[in-house]
Amino acid sequence: MTPTKEAELRELIRKSALLNAVKHDGKAQTGAVVGKILGEKPEYRSDVKKISAMISEIVQEVNNLSPEEQKRITEEKWPEAFVKEKAEEKRLPPLANAEKYDQVVTRYAPNPDCVLHLGSARAIVLCHEYAKLYKGKFILRFEDTDPRLKRPVLKFYDLIRQDLAWLECKADEEYIQSDRIPIYYEHTERMLKDGNAYVCTCKPEDFREKILAQKPCACRDLSVEENLRRWKLMFEGGYEEGEAVVRVKTDLNHPNPAVRDWPALRVLDTQKYPHPRVGNKYRVWPLYNLASGVDDHLMGITHIIRGKEHLTNEVRQTYMYKHFGWKYPEAIHYGRLKITGASLSKSKIVQGVREGTYKSWDDPRLATFLALRRRGIKPDAIKKMIIDVGPKTSDVILSWENLYAYNRKMLDSTADRYFFVQMPIELTVKRVPKDFNVRLNLHPDHPERGFREYHLKPQGESSTLTLWASRKDIDDSKEGMMLRLMELFNVRIEKASVYSAEGVFVSESYEDARKVKAQLIHWVLIGKDMPCSVIMPDATITEGVAEDACRKLKPDDIIQFERFGFVRVDKNDASLIAYYAQK
Ligand SMILES: [Zn+2]
Repeated sequence: MTPTKEAELRELIRKSALLNAVKHDGKAQTGAVVGKILGEKPEYRSDVKKISAMISEIVQEVNNLSPEEQKRITEEKWPEAFVKEKAEEKRLPPLANAEKYDQVVTRYAPNPDCVLHLGSARAIVLCHEYAKLYKGKFILRFEDTDPRLKRPVLKFYDLIRQDLAWLECKADEEYIQSDRIPIYYEHTERMLKDGNAYVCTCKPEDFREKILAQKPCACRDLSVEENLRRWKLMFEGGYEEGEAVVRVKTDLNHPNPAVRDWPALRVLDTQKYPHPRVGNKYRVWPLYNLASGVDDHLMGITHIIRGKEHLTNEVRQTYMYKHFGWKYPEAIHYGRLKITGASLSKSKIVQGVREGTYKSWDDPRLATFLALRRRGIKPDAIKKMIIDVGPKTSDVILSWENLYAYNRKMLDSTADRYFFVQMPIELTVKRVPKDFNVRLNLHPDHPERGFREYHLKPQGESSTLTLWASRKDIDDSKEGMMLRLMELFNVRIEKASVYSAEGVFVSESYEDARKVKAQLIHWVLIGKDMPCSVIMPDATITEGVAEDACRKLKPDDIIQFERFGFVRVDKNDASLIAYYAQK
């Protein structure tokens, strides 16, 4: 190693050690630095011993500095690296009382009656991120105990798991409430035996009248024996649907009547409404607050993170927790997240698909994860947006544009560029003086990614080239005006109709085009093209031709059609089918 080389290497190690120290409370880890250096400079792998010795020496020097000193040097010498490190650590605000628990446990608890959509993203991402942040556990719990009104559907269990996997928010554990029905029975019985719950057989309107007047119904003060007898009857067919409900005792004077003696279990006619997983095995079904409340405790959930529409549920469940002598988990209730222009109503999505308004769950008009995925919206864009919004309690209104801004950041550097001509018409250019060999970089900032190359050879007596150009571009130009075919040459349009246009070669120089502010337009060489259909977010189809180089694209590739937008390749055989992501 020459002295210069060694000095360079030492400086690189010092930088890596300092950054590592800043990240780890002032103590750089030798192993991490070795890994980083050998990753960046694989040529030193043959000399690991020497390099490791050098690294451990420098790491020690760095660790002898105070954390303030380490930070100061880093910020001063490598401000950009420091900013980047910091940006990566931009995180959610700390979780309340996280230190009180051995392990932070969060849960996402969907009803499998629809696929997930953008409206679900906040709960999922916050719960998953917090679990990750505290090295905790993220639980997926299917809350499928309403086979009557919020009927679960088998295929959604799997689609929801797939949605989570796509979002990179896979659960560490999974539970399905319809597997746990006996657990809810057991806890209900305990409350009945302790006199903390009762079986109410009042007509709903009679109960309502009493409860609004802060008066008990006749069932509230029945003996434990009578309640257990009624409870047994609920299972034996002694009550029809709607005739009996178990209520949890609360404070009849609670200011919110909706809290007073809330219903916990009811009888359902499962002959009529069989459950998709357990059929008519059970007649008595728990309601949301019982099942969810019992599960949160039994599953060791430490932090419930959910929308503020659940605030009353916390109040209801707190009574049950008191009956059992349990401590209620920390609860974080975030504000509503509205996305303008996106329909986030599950019932409307389900109805639209059922009636055929939407072709499928991934119809581009929907904001389901399936649709976003098909269009080329990256899961990381969704995650970053949600993390930036955080768990604040105020309502937040976002737009598609907000999401596109995050997505663009991810796509701009990764998507290769191609030419696509929508509504193509034939453009004949005469008097082209020579052959042209055009090389187009796949990405303007990354020439190393390669290029496409087209050879254009004028034909016939008048040295003619025929190209596809967009009717819209030609329409926008007036006869006699100059246009610049991108990366090619300037042309003056002499004649244009709906089907074709004719022009004449003017010059090659880009300067000429700039001087007259000529419009830059895309083109595709006829014979070096392929048909291409782009499915737009409103489900209309934009037809056109893509350049020949697109033939090698594979499904899921996300590319940019210049001056058109980012698209995700959906299918590519004789013709290219793409979904439009965004501008
Ligand atoms: Zn009653």
